Amino acid sequence: MMTHPTVCLLGIPWDVHSSYMTGPALAPAEIRCAFDCDSANKWTESGIDLGQAEIIQDAGDLALEGDPDPIARIQSRVAEMLDRNLLLLCLGGDHAVTYPVVKAVSRKHAPLNILHFDAHPDLYDELDNDRLSHACPFARIMETGRVARLVQVGIRCMNGHQKSQAEKFGVEVHEMKDWQGPPALTFDGPLYISVDMDALDPAFAPGVSHWEPGGLSVRELIQVLQQVKADRIVGADLVEYNPRQDPSGRTGMVAAKLMKELMGRMLV
Ligand code: MN
Ligand code: MN
Repeated sequence: MMTHPTVCLLGIPWDVHSSYMTGPALAPAEIRCAFDCDSANKWTESGIDLGQAEIIQDAGDLALEGDPDPIARIQSRVAEMLDRNLLLLCLGGDHAVTYPVVKAVSRKHAPLNILHFDAHPDLYDELDNDRLSHACPFARIMETGRVARLVQVGIRCMNGHQKSQAEKFGVEVHEMKDWQGPPALTFDGPLYISVDMDALDPAFAPGVSHWEPGGLSVRELIQVLQQVKADRIVGADLVEYNPRQDPSGRTGMVAAKLMKELMGRMLV
């Protein structure tokens, strides 16, 4: 007998829209490996044993190499999973994956709320002539008009252009400069959570493409996850882990920890 719903894992090894260095395409395999590492058990802090049969279904990795339209491909694969009423957890890839994923999620669950952890607002209209850049996904997402609220936590790279974008789209930005502990967050309706690993301070998670000091500790990010109030969490992603920046595999263990705690929240 299944006592919990099922979380479906989907790897999206895609980093062609990274602006500075590639590597996040290698992440899904490494995060699975860290999750399966014998150094830790599979219980979440919320008391769920992720090692029990059928609680996780792994859909594997999308093979996007040579695909003429990766955006459409990601979107349709995610839509298929949602049609089977699975809770969705996508492993990036860089943050560009979130646009097609959320496009699919917001078609099924609208109006959608998003909780976004990141050092960066990722609200550029375009970067380096690339409107699909990993610096742009939340501009593309807000332009769809299917998102009720976008709340960002961990931000410490706000600039003039993105500040005006945030105002234009009505984004609620919690900047690190104002950090006084986990913000009290309550969402009505379906919630999607997007975790960019660089929301964490590079002291805790150096295995990312953009080292941006002054970020969240692992515990602070987990506290926000554990304290957020939401009717239901319908999907999540974990992006921007860069194994090329992580020869010891230490940040991979952090990614696996966040994956566990995300699942812990989704399955409650
Ligand atoms: Mn990002
Ligand atoms: Mn970032």
